[in-house]
Amino acid sequence: MDFTGRGRCLIAAAFLAATAACLPDAGYGFVVPSVTPVPDKRPEPQSTVVPLPVPKPDLSVSESTAPQEADAAEEIPEAAPVPCTLQFADTVDLPAVVGENGCGFSSAVRLAGVNGTANVGFVPEPMVNCRFAGALSNWIEEDLAQIAMETKGERLKAVHVGPGYQCRRRNNLEDGKLSEHALGNALDILGFEFVSGDIVSVENDWSGEDPDTEPRRKFLHSVHDAACKRFTTVLGPGADDYHEGHIHVDIGCHGKTCTYRICQ
Ligand SMILES: [Zn+2]
Repeated sequence: MDFTGRGRCLIAAAFLAATAACLPDAGYGFVVPSVTPVPDKRPEPQSTVVPLPVPKPDLSVSESTAPQEADAAEEIPEAAPVPCTLQFADTVDLPAVVGENGCGFSSAVRLAGVNGTANVGFVPEPMVNCRFAGALSNWIEEDLAQIAMETKGERLKAVHVGPGYQCRRRNNLEDGKLSEHALGNALDILGFEFVSGDIVSVENDWSGEDPDTEPRRKFLHSVHDAACKRFTTVLGPGADDYHEGHIHVDIGCHGKTCTYRICQ
C-alpha cells in the first residue's frame, strides 16, 4: 500500500518542479531566493499540528484476496480532489498530498489568483491547503487592495511567493515538529507587483531613509501589520536575520485554543 503514497508524492514533486520553473530570477530589482525549500532558521513557534484529515490506505480489499501488492497499488486511482470553493480565490483542486514523515494534507489546491475586485495573481502559483488559500485570498482582497491604493496609489497585479508546500521540519532538522509549510498551512511572500510593473520587494524595500521610497516602506509595513490580524504566525524582516528577504505567514495552531498569535 506504500505505493499509493509514493505515487502521490511523485505528483506533488512534479507539481513543485513545474511551479519552481516559473520563479523569476532576474529583472525584478530583487533577488528571488532559490525555490529549494526556504529554511526558516528561526524555530517557528511551537504549535500543535492542525488535525487535518490524512487519507488512510484503502482497507476494503483484504490481504487474503488482494492480488500481488505491487500490481494492486498500480491499479488504485488517485483519491479524488476535495472540492475547494472560496469567495475570492481562484483555485485548482489537487489530489491529497501525501509526503513522507508526516508531510501532506488533504484539500490541496493550486492557488492561481484572487478573483474579487482585487484581481491579483501569484508568481509562481503556490500549492497550499484550501483553508490557507481562503485566509490568504481574504487578506489580499479585503486588506491589501486598499493598502496598495492608499500607499502606492495603484492597484496590485501579483504577489511573488515561494512554493507554499515544502516537506520539511522546522529548521530543516531531521527531528522535531513539522514546519507549517509541510501541511500546506504557510507561504513565504517575497514581493508585490503593481499594474505599472513596479515591484516592491521585502528584501530591498522594508527599510531605508530615502523619502522617495517611503511609500514602498509604508506599503510593506502596512501589509505586515494587516497580516498579523489574519494569520496566527507572521515573521518578517526584524524577526531574525533569515526573514530579511520575505514575510512568512501561516495559520498554524499555537496553544491549546489556537488563539495565540505571533507577529514579528
Ligand atoms: Zn516560511
